[in-house]
Order: sequence, then C-alpha cells, then structure tokens
Amino acid sequence: MIYREISKSNFHIHSNFSDGKNSVMEIIRAALILRMDYIAITDHFSNSWKSNIIQTLNSKDSIIEYIDTLNLCQEYLTNLNSNLVLLKGIEVDLYSTDDFIEKNLSPENFDIVLFEYLESKEEITFLENIIDFWRNMEGLNQLPLLGIAHFDPSVFFKDDHDVLIEFLESYGLFYEFNESYSKFFSSKYDDFFEKIRNKRIPISIGCDSHDIRNLYSVEKVIDAIENYDLIKNYDKFLESVRSAFKS
Ligand SMILES: [Zn+2]
Repeated sequence: MIYREISKSNFHIHSNFSDGKNSVMEIIRAALILRMDYIAITDHFSNSWKSNIIQTLNSKDSIIEYIDTLNLCQEYLTNLNSNLVLLKGIEVDLYSTDDFIEKNLSPENFDIVLFEYLESKEEITFLENIIDFWRNMEGLNQLPLLGIAHFDPSVFFKDDHDVLIEFLESYGLFYEFNESYSKFFSSKYDDFFEKIRNKRIPISIGCDSHDIRNLYSVEKVIDAIENYDLIKNYDKFLESVRSAFKS
C-alpha cells in the first residue's frame, strides 16, 4: 500500500473559527505530533442558509482576525524550523452571493481556496465570474490554489462531466478527494475519474476534519487514488503547493 509513502497531508481542516472543535494552535500541535507534511485550515465562509446553522466567517472583522491568527501560526512554524507547512485557506459556500464574496475576500490573503456545493452548470458560470473578478484585481501577483471540495458526480449528467472537467482544466482548479464523502468517489464513477486522470486535473486530499482526533483520516481517499491511478494527479497538486511556498 502507498499509504505509508504518500505525503502525509490534509488540505481540508476546520478550526473553531467556524464549526471545528479546536483552535488553530491545537491543530498545529497535533499535526506536529503526527509528523504531517502539509495542513490547510479551511474554515467556512458563507452568507447563505448555512451561516444561520453553523458558525462561519461572515464579516470583514472575523476574516481579519482569522488571517492574523494564521499568519502568526505560519511564523511560529518558521521559527520552529519545522517541516510542517501550514496553508492559509478558506472554504467558500457557492450559495453565498457574489457581492458578499467579492467584498469580503481578498485572494492575496490565502494560499488555498476551496469551493463547496458546485451542483449545477449555472454555478460553474458563477464561479468563473468570481475567479475572473479576482484575476482582474489590480496588484494581484498570483491567485491562491483554487479547488472544488467534495464534489458529488451524480449531480451532473454524464455528458456534463466534460463541461466540469473542461472548466477545471481551463481555470487551473484542483479536484478534492474528501474522506468524509467517500460515496462521491465510489466505483460507479469510474468513467469520470478516468477523465480526471487523462486530463491530468490536479487532485488534493482532505478529510474535512472538525476535531484533531481525525486530523489524518484519509485511508479511503488514498485507496481511491491508488485504485483510480491518480498518484500523478496528486503529485501535480503537490508540485503547485511546493512552488507556491518557494516564493
Ligand atoms: Zn469543509
């Protein structure tokens, strides 16, 4: 099994800035004990129905405090001379309004941005518009890593899978394998993952952890990556992570 050899990482973690149980510092300490390579804190950002149900980052002030904390934690790891790399991330609910996203999120503050609930072709257009808006921002050198979180292939007709993959390819987005949603990568979607492989769409791994007790629970994800022969796609993603952190 490749489980032991693969980069020990989780690119989808919630802290108590949204609905996670632990502080960012508690997550870092746990990741250091586990000798992990990369962790991304990706707390919820939303102004949809979701923001009435769970705690989310839904104001400029809360986002400033979040970013300040993540910056301090990155400094802490640098001073520690640790191999662990912390990515400053956020998980954007695509049912939020475009106005809310554009006003509150500055892409330069983040290393990685996940988009959840991509469930229709209309939402692809919505997301294209957001990314285009960011690309046209003055003074922005580089966009963060952008990707689709826990996508459910059954929400698209089979023929429309090509539309999605074309979008991921042309906008340079990655595709996330999420341990908490293993039904989304069951073997019935074999055709879809063959396209992901052939088009060399980068893939990330995560488990949507809300508690440090499952900070590195990605067994099913790693099995799926192996079964669908997607190791090169994961390598491609890691390559972009490494190059983002060189600068
Ligand atoms: Zn999540």
